[in-house]
Amino acid sequence: MNATVILSLHCFSVFTLSPKLYKLLQCKCFSTITGYFCKVECAAETATDIYVFHTTGADYSRAYIDVKDAQWVCRGELKPVDINSITPSQFVTYRFGVFITRYLAQTIRTPDVTLLLASNLPPNNYDRNCFRNSFFYEHKRKVLFVRHERIDSIGDFILLVVHCLAHISTKDLKDDANPLFLRQFYKVGQYVSAFCFLSIITLSILVGIYKYTLVHVLDKDM
Ligand SMILES: [Zn+2]
Repeated sequence: MNATVILSLHCFSVFTLSPKLYKLLQCKCFSTITGYFCKVECAAETATDIYVFHTTGADYSRAYIDVKDAQWVCRGELKPVDINSITPSQFVTYRFGVFITRYLAQTIRTPDVTLLLASNLPPNNYDRNCFRNSFFYEHKRKVLFVRHERIDSIGDFILLVVHCLAHISTKDLKDDANPLFLRQFYKVGQYVSAFCFLSIITLSILVGIYKYTLVHVLDKDM
């Protein structure tokens, strides 16, 4: 079972199932999610496992690049974007990225970097990084610049930010196959997933309290 499907099922069950059925499904979900991350962590320990899925005869001389990244080039000067000039929805996404950056710095001690956006990125040597045309890290000031276009999708943006944080933590921005990076990336993924899960649970509890209060207030009035 795919992890996204498991999480969706879980969210659905929180809102709709009876407590007994929910508890049963919860046990099943957690054991599968734990199993999923264990497999991923084992694969990270031996980087060679990743290549098991290679197709015979295919050209793997060039490192994998993200589809959007393949359309961009890093050329010219770094051009930071004024945060006051982005749209309100982009600002919400940006602030969530800043929040996740701080949350990870506090929980698993990822470097406390400043997150900014850039409309143009300078050349780099991140040769084997699948997001090599989407970010630039300024070591001296600890500033992570993310390509402006990435902020149009919350999923893309957060995935990119956590990917970069894992690279910065392991002091290797170049190679996605570095086992130290992979281990840190999956660890970061676990913490972000757990945070989202707890947020959903908190929200469902608040919705429950709201519904309960509403029913009782209406009962009294009648
Ligand atoms: Zn990478």
